[in-house]
Amino acid sequence: MIRYSCDLCQREMDPDDDLRYVVQMEIYAAFDPTTVSEEDEDRDHLQEIQDILERLEQADADRVGDDVYQRLRFDLCPECRKKFVKNPLGKEHAKVLGFSKN
Ligand SMILES: [Zn+2]
Repeated sequence: MIRYSCDLCQREMDPDDDLRYVVQMEIYAAFDPTTVSEEDEDRDHLQEIQDILERLEQADADRVGDDVYQRLRFDLCPECRKKFVKNPLGKEHAKVLGFSKN
């Protein structure tokens, strides 16, 4: 049987007792529509991204690809899921920095 552990607190989850939550994140470079010139308006931008990805794959996918497109997947225990939902971007840390007087 496959055992899962929480990616946040590292706790091993018991498949009989614990609900396991899967978090999937998709991070990709946004193409700002205001920078698109008129003759480009008809172009399919998803296709464009696809083309870029394919080119990167051929070039150096391991190093460059993550800057453009990244898919992350995490397993979370119920407690960490609650924490994550409250603060999915980990803002707590940024707030602390903001209040420090430098
Ligand atoms: Zn956890």
